[in-house]
Amino acid sequence: MGMAGTALLAAGQDAAARRAPSAYTPTTEQAAADGIRVRFLGTGAADWNGRDERGELRRLSSILIDGHVLIDFTQTAADMLPADCHPDVIFYTHSHGDHYRPEAALSLGSIRKVYLSQTWYDIAVSEFAAAARKLGVAMPKIIPVCIGQEVQVGNLCVHPLPANHATGHILEQTLIYLVEKGTSRLLYATDTGGLMAVAARLAGIDAHAKGEPITGLIMEATMGMEHEVDFRLYAHSSVATVERTAQVLAETKRYAPKTAGQPVFLTHMARTLHGTQAELDAQLPPSLRAAYDGLEVVF
Ligand SMILES: [Zn+2]
Ligand SMILES: [Zn+2]
Repeated sequence: MGMAGTALLAAGQDAAARRAPSAYTPTTEQAAADGIRVRFLGTGAADWNGRDERGELRRLSSILIDGHVLIDFTQTAADMLPADCHPDVIFYTHSHGDHYRPEAALSLGSIRKVYLSQTWYDIAVSEFAAAARKLGVAMPKIIPVCIGQEVQVGNLCVHPLPANHATGHILEQTLIYLVEKGTSRLLYATDTGGLMAVAARLAGIDAHAKGEPITGLIMEATMGMEHEVDFRLYAHSSVATVERTAQVLAETKRYAPKTAGQPVFLTHMARTLHGTQAELDAQLPPSLRAAYDGLEVVF
């Protein structure tokens, strides 16, 4: 791409994925040095099952942070990991199968620690144990987390925050994550119907307890622009939800990207509710950009 050292490295395998971003300038090398580096391994919702009839492909949603920390991971995203990459930590947002697959995590052979909500810890331990027996591998350390806790992983500080979502485990509190490193603050928000007030408060971006602004936002847009009226309303966000969130956060200086004009990135896009990547690139407002598998961004 001739953009070595910049924040946006298109590494996707799809033709559409190599398209350059239209509406903002990649971050500087300085920002890349001390920012949080994210590689999108998958950007699709649960209805993706390989390449579709349009030739589009999104793997199930997952990101790799600073080359070694995963948030969610399934087998679909395994081919999006860099060749020399050996992730050692996974944070799970929730127990849905498009985010959580113990066998996929164990198959990496490098995971030492697994963090997930204490509300389904026992279930995860037994499922990981069964997968470890089946594969004949050792168990990683499974660590329950609570909302408001801080988890230090190297120079990253990870905060579990509540999501607005539900699973078959009715007492499970699903999570989104705020990831901090130096002055960088990235909020990764999937799966969630909007941002919950408690999450906004803990992240310092709510109405009453304003803290440091977030410098990056990755938010799910399961529903596309033409699909505002959808039964997933309570558990997922739409492009309009994210656009309104981005606008409020930017106008009230609660979102302050280190690179001026860096958009909010959409992920967890449903196959049946969105156009192609090319259509999204053409149609989304400048404040938003559809992520794609293999995209790398520094926040
Ligand atoms: Zn999902
Ligand atoms: Zn889900």
